[in-house]
Amino acid sequence: MKKALVCGAGGFIAGHLVKKLKKAGYWVRGVDIKKHEFSTSPADEFLTLDLREEENCREALALGNGAFDEVYQLAADMGGMGFIHSAECEIMRNSALINIHMTHHAWKTGVPRYFFSSSVCVYRDMKHGEPEMTEQQAIPANPDNEYGWEKLYAERMAQAYDRNRGMKVRIARFQNCYGPEGTWRGGREKAPAALCRKIAEAGEGGVIEVWGDGTAVRSYTYIDDMVEGIYMLMHSDLEGAVNIGCPEYASVDELANIIAAAAGKKITIRHIEGPVGVQSRNFSNSRIYSIGWKSRFSLRQGVALTYPWIEEQVRRTAG
Ligand code: NAD
Repeated sequence: MKKALVCGAGGFIAGHLVKKLKKAGYWVRGVDIKKHEFSTSPADEFLTLDLREEENCREALALGNGAFDEVYQLAADMGGMGFIHSAECEIMRNSALINIHMTHHAWKTGVPRYFFSSSVCVYRDMKHGEPEMTEQQAIPANPDNEYGWEKLYAERMAQAYDRNRGMKVRIARFQNCYGPEGTWRGGREKAPAALCRKIAEAGEGGVIEVWGDGTAVRSYTYIDDMVEGIYMLMHSDLEGAVNIGCPEYASVDELANIIAAAAGKKITIRHIEGPVGVQSRNFSNSRIYSIGWKSRFSLRQGVALTYPWIEEQVRRTAG
């Protein structure tokens, strides 16, 4: 039986990844600084550890005999635009420490395959209508925020361990990911969850506030597609960074309207000042397509599965 360590298993994407690995027959150890907020982890073992500490990375990786077959590193100090712009020092320090220690000790304990979760935040801002950018075009680098710079550093460090130490490294650059059991309030939630919450809280004909002018364009990938992409990439021969994202792009206002339609509500959008991030995105998926991955969920389908879960959380916490 293959053994996998999943870092960040108390969080959104890694929480779903643990479920996927269990279904695929793995023995799984999850590790996170906190337990999962919304469900009991199906991991065979769950360790609550602060992975900024080198000693804790060693403990997370320790097995009685041998090494983990696969390590999935998704732990990060992470949030939506509000968090990314207000917590630059925390992101640069905390996520870098986690990645420095985890990459090094994964190699030291003899882990043969290591996955790192990067982000399309490594790319520069784009103009509306610009042609697709490929993975190589992240360099020369000019990310819009410190979160992107930290990811670039961690990517390069992991690649150095691949080149110089022989640990096989797989790196995904995720586009925005959404779905049930993701953070939906508290300041770290991302746009799809925040908009679902605002619409769930609004009455019929209500007004919701949207940061910026509503024209910023993004692609949104449903969680099941993302987890499938991680799994396929990890087991592929693809070296270097690989974009994973749904090829459907939408403006923030379009996203809000899709969510309102799923909620069956008429809403009015009021644009207010707030951190927006880049203007536009458009990335090539040809590398991940080359191993047979394709997103299966359109934005409408993914929202139809996500909105009811957030609406239920809103109802429960209000009641
Ligand atoms: P998340 O916040 O739900 O999960 C991250 C987990 O890391 C959290 O459970 C958190 O407690 C844990 N963590 C933070 N600091 C830790 C520490 N010191 N020690 C141990 N655990 C710690 O975020 P997510 O959306 O599931 O993101 C997972 C990964 O994917 C992250 O690396 C993130 O940067 C990347 N990513 C996510 C998206 C997205 O849209 N969700 C997009 C691009 C990249």
